[in-house]
Amino acid sequence: MKITVKSFLMFGISMASLFCTRCSSLNPPGAERCRVCGAPVGEIEGKQQCLSDMAFERKKDEPKVIVQKDMLAAPYFPYEPRESQMDIVRDITVTLAGSAHLVMESGTGTGKTICALAGSLHHAKMRGKKIVYLTRTISQSDQVMRELKAISEIKDVSGLTLTGRKRSCPLLRTITGYENIPPHVLSSLCEEKKSGRSGGGCRFFERVRTFAPKIGSFCRSDFPTSDELDRFCESHDVCPYEARKELIRDMDVIVAPYVHILSEDIRTNLLAHMRCDDENILLIVDEAHNLIPAAREQGNFSITVKQLDDAMDEIAALKDPTLSGGLKAGEFTGFLKAVIKGAANEKLTIGTKEAVIDHDRVESRLKNKFSMDQGQLISAVDRMIEIGEIRTEYLLDHEEHKLSELFILGVSLKDWISSDEGQFIKTVKADADGEMLCASCIDPSQITMFIRSLKGAVHMSGTLQPLDQYVRTMGLPDTTVMRAYPSPFPPENRSVIYVNNVTTKYDDLKREGMTERIAKHIVSLCNAVDKNTLVFFPSYGLMNRLRPMVERGIEKRMYWEESGHQKRTMSSLDQFRRGRNGVFFTVMGGSIAEGMDFPGDELSFAIIVGIPYPPPTVESKAMSDMFDKRYGTGFGWRYVSEVPAVRKMKQAIGRLIRTGTDRGMAVILDSRASRYAKQLDAVPSEDPAGDAVRFFTGR
Ligand code: SF4
Repeated sequence: MKITVKSFLMFGISMASLFCTRCSSLNPPGAERCRVCGAPVGEIEGKQQCLSDMAFERKKDEPKVIVQKDMLAAPYFPYEPRESQMDIVRDITVTLAGSAHLVMESGTGTGKTICALAGSLHHAKMRGKKIVYLTRTISQSDQVMRELKAISEIKDVSGLTLTGRKRSCPLLRTITGYENIPPHVLSSLCEEKKSGRSGGGCRFFERVRTFAPKIGSFCRSDFPTSDELDRFCESHDVCPYEARKELIRDMDVIVAPYVHILSEDIRTNLLAHMRCDDENILLIVDEAHNLIPAAREQGNFSITVKQLDDAMDEIAALKDPTLSGGLKAGEFTGFLKAVIKGAANEKLTIGTKEAVIDHDRVESRLKNKFSMDQGQLISAVDRMIEIGEIRTEYLLDHEEHKLSELFILGVSLKDWISSDEGQFIKTVKADADGEMLCASCIDPSQITMFIRSLKGAVHMSGTLQPLDQYVRTMGLPDTTVMRAYPSPFPPENRSVIYVNNVTTKYDDLKREGMTERIAKHIVSLCNAVDKNTLVFFPSYGLMNRLRPMVERGIEKRMYWEESGHQKRTMSSLDQFRRGRNGVFFTVMGGSIAEGMDFPGDELSFAIIVGIPYPPPTVESKAMSDMFDKRYGTGFGWRYVSEVPAVRKMKQAIGRLIRTGTDRGMAVILDSRASRYAKQLDAVPSEDPAGDAVRFFTGR
């Protein structure tokens, strides 16, 4: 609804009542809560209304829950809560009481971990439900355990962090090549050891039952981090992986990586050990902006020519077994290889490394060649899997820690044949190892179906806006509640500016003088400010191109992220953090831009070179087309390119302010930033180096 002066007069609306009291956004007449941050709009009956004062009736489909008195309190909040934290806790409690999902953006410093735990524990403990708290990194899971320990000072709560077998098995990691053993092979090896059939059993497993009570007491009293729990178990010669399985059913909160819910197999096991089903678990998704990419990745798979060569070697070792109807495995696999090579020759022209192929191209070639129908093709592939399973058992019995190549090929082929056209895009690609078929998941709705079906979940992140995109892409129910909570830090402690006379736009970057102008800005900005500075490039390519120019001009210690050299990069980063006047050059979207904290003076100044739109790929094109078709022209570009680019910039800018006393400034070197000025709270600058000096000196 467009708001005009006339509408104010016609409806007798007070202007003050239309502005959010929290974030000052203008709201449509009649709105009770801010459509941006969810706070109450204006004043009602002379008193500022907050969520807890009202029945929850914001839109038709949102859960209608009459708030009970005990929802107004936060009995599981272990600190003196700020009013804004109480808002979050209440929003969570009320939304969960309505069996709905809450999708929230809540920046650094709002305390979203403790708010999510306090709100969901309040709901879960009253109803005998369990909480699964999904995190992306070990350090996030450690933070959850620290907050749970704080809650345990005032309430009876328990929690446990889960990790995979690979990280915590003390027995198998002694075997050569442990790092390269796939998880399902480790699982088979573990079963062999536990059963005592292979190599004398597992002494760590034998002690699990006896020591479980002691480990359980340790978890309840100390709330150990993942590493601490592993060390405690190992000090008692107990398997940490099996001990967790033993304890899981008695815990209120299970902290786990995303894959524990995204993978159907792992999830089924997890719920069985928790003795839960989808009716009695609550889900908290931390860093939720990563969930959809993680779900897509979970769905992706490939079939490589190298894999087919390995399968051919195994077929020869097995004396060319028959698949079905007299068809030999060797002939079938050899023809499949020819189909892949044929697709690559036809589709990949010079300079092209990937191309879309018809969804049923491979299957129809196989069916034509061997005069099969769909059912016969599936039978042949099923037989390949059976032969592979028998071969895998043989390999494990003979201490060869790997899966049968036929088994891997059969499973991949079965997935290939059953991939839904609307959810996967099929391509042929080539790299240094040869040609391959790839199935890339563009719509992970099948994988996230379980999450959608839950009756209560909190999806949260510091950079989740636009929230409606997340809700749409995840396919969350209409009753989903969206909230954005403002930063608790003083706005004057942060400044974001952008420069209009440069851009990294592909065509413009080729124009004479553009790279030199960008380098000049970087040099003058770095030399103007005596603060630790991070410079983010959109790619290693551009970083390497500009490196000689900036190295010549910058008069302070410089550090460079080195692609493929994680250890060296981390060591440079350590030195950078210890200093107070260095410059670290890195790329946007990596672990430094997103996953690291730089408290206090470790980082004060950020220079963002270009707008970090994701590089175009056949997958992104397919996703863009899908969104255009579903939601209207323009949504594809917005969801696939603009939203991730703005999110990356917000993540990078977010590195600057981690506490209430931090001050920081970001400069975006690209005129296209003007399109996102509002979202980034950025203003143009004619004199970026001068503005930086003025911000940091206060003059
Ligand atoms: Fe490893 Fe534990 Fe399995 Fe033994 S029981 S093999 S220690 S994971």
